[in-house]
Amino acid sequence: MSEGDSTLEDDVGTVYLVGSGPGDPDLLTVRAAELIESADVVLHDKLPGPEILGRIPEEKREDVGKRAGGEWTPQEYTNRRLVELAREGKSVVRLKGGDPFVFGRGGEEAEHLAAAGIPFEVVPGVTSAIAGPAVAGIPVTHRDHASSVSFVTGHEDPTKEESAVDWDALAATGGTIVVLMGVGKLPAYTAELRDAGLDGDTPVALVERATWPDMRVATGTLDTIVDVRDEAGIEPPAITVIGDVAATRERVVEFLENDGERGGDA
Ligand code: SAH
Repeated sequence: MSEGDSTLEDDVGTVYLVGSGPGDPDLLTVRAAELIESADVVLHDKLPGPEILGRIPEEKREDVGKRAGGEWTPQEYTNRRLVELAREGKSVVRLKGGDPFVFGRGGEEAEHLAAAGIPFEVVPGVTSAIAGPAVAGIPVTHRDHASSVSFVTGHEDPTKEESAVDWDALAATGGTIVVLMGVGKLPAYTAELRDAGLDGDTPVALVERATWPDMRVATGTLDTIVDVRDEAGIEPPAITVIGDVAATRERVVEFLENDGERGGDA
């Protein structure tokens, strides 16, 4: 590498693809907290939650989530902006809820940065897919009830002809099913699972805004959970946990300290 090249390299900032965890600032990793502090710019959406976002000075935040009017910022814009800021020599944190590589489009951003020659680092986070159930008293695996767990998206591209999620196969595995982005399509996939032979009495839990100050948990069965959702008015972001492990909550909730402190049953 010539000297000229290395000078050029020095001028380029680094992009940090950082997971915020589910929302409680205490669940940020030490590295995430340090980077948020030292970054020039933090690009984020709403998922890191009000407590974490509230601690970041307004002047270094850029919201690339849902805009007023309900439109999402196009992914292409976010990709372009990350490259642009890095080329200005900025230290950029791309802050994502949970873990950046779990249904967060972090993989696409990493590929885009690599293609543009921008140095980046991935900072894993505590995913809501595991932490959400956990803080509601639900272990995603359990020696007696579930020896496997599947993480699936409930929100699919409606233009897709074939479902990318094989609900029949999931019903057959007998493990825990954790659905992200699964509030709106709850009626569709619970029906699919029942049609595929999963028992209507299978326990189901919805964990809304897990670890946020106003977290709520609602429980039912495959047969009842849609009504439970409607009565409680559960809204995204929420995690759906389907499987026998969901009933663990009933056996531990009385003694679950963080549940009582941060919200409760819907
Ligand atoms: N990368 C994130 C997931 C992004 S997909 C992670 O690892 O957690 C967005 C979905 O994540 C939401 O629709 C919801 O299902 C889930 N989610 C994220 N944060 C949540 C929280 N605090 N409580 C409940 N669900 C959450």
